[in-house]
Amino acid sequence: MEKARIPLAKIEQELRHAMAAKKCWRCGCFQDTVNTLKASDTINATLGSQLEEAHALFEPIRYECLGCEVCWPAGAQNLAAELDPAVAEGAHCAREEPEPREGWPPLPGDYRVVRFQAPVAVCTLNSDHLVTALSDADIEGLSMVGSLHTENLGIEHLIRNTLANPHIRFLIICGEDTRKAIGHLPGQSLFALAEQGVNENMRIIDAKGKRPLLKNIRPEQVEAFRRQVKVIAQVGNDDVSALRKLIVESAGNDPGPFADAPSDVIPIPIKAAKEPGKLVLDPAGYFVVYLDRIHQRLVLEHYSNKGVLDRMFTASSAAALYVSVIEAELISRLDHAAYFGRELARAEHALQCGEDYVQDRAPGEAGPESDANAQ
Ligand code: SF4
Repeated sequence: MEKARIPLAKIEQELRHAMAAKKCWRCGCFQDTVNTLKASDTINATLGSQLEEAHALFEPIRYECLGCEVCWPAGAQNLAAELDPAVAEGAHCAREEPEPREGWPPLPGDYRVVRFQAPVAVCTLNSDHLVTALSDADIEGLSMVGSLHTENLGIEHLIRNTLANPHIRFLIICGEDTRKAIGHLPGQSLFALAEQGVNENMRIIDAKGKRPLLKNIRPEQVEAFRRQVKVIAQVGNDDVSALRKLIVESAGNDPGPFADAPSDVIPIPIKAAKEPGKLVLDPAGYFVVYLDRIHQRLVLEHYSNKGVLDRMFTASSAAALYVSVIEAELISRLDHAAYFGRELARAEHALQCGEDYVQDRAPGEAGPESDANAQ
């Protein structure tokens, strides 16, 4: 009992901090901890009255976990687990699981998708700024990049989104695993998961963070994830050029899509695209595009389908022309808009590079009512 006194005093102190902070009263994290400690005979025997006091502060939950830099309830729970290991298995930072949606990624999160058929995913941990920096950097081989703030629900989402894309074969863990004082350590937990997996209670073996329990996925999903991806530990690295190099290098070692995904992973079908059929006139009319080399600009003439010129536009960029055409409602069919955009891009390229430009005819088989210029 003597040995237990020190952790108990510290648990009490951590709880007092949380009880003094209004933000905790409405946080699922605090309420889960208090309920878990109350359920432990060992802890409740000594701290019962304080736990009752803490329970009386509960307000309707507004958030599951704020991911605070220092989380006193998490500290209390980690200390309590030293006295009663069952406490470590209780509670979870978030309870509500979003419904997976069709397509990829099936679960929402703080990430950006770059390309489905690419082998490298990057987890930036608590460095949110890296998500934008890497996804905007036009890096060959990068599939998706996202942050990770918790070692339970966050890792579960990461696993499920990864399993849903067999092309992802590498996971680079970088950025700051900052909430080290007391609380979340998602980077260390993710690396521990890759190295050692989970125990029979779905707790990540050797994870040192707060509540590293994966309650919403199955052991076979965890094992498939561990086989699918090679985890590359770069915790603390937030150098975009160094990470770019690593992504490109990893992509160069791509072993190809993972063939052993769990049976409930729904593949994304790849359909062969079909060639355009019959050309259908846009009731809004058609365009003639050409270059004005003297003034270094693009010129656009708009005709009604009776062949009458009714509008002209000039601009130095394709974007200015298509924005103006859309605003003037001179385009009403999606196939026409696609053709028009392609022609403007070709014309803009020719203008900038000093190349010749001749407008292509619209794709599709011309019917009796259409002619070469009729889109
Ligand atoms: S995360 Fe922890 S410290 Fe932050 S509000 Fe929730 S219970 Fe309190």
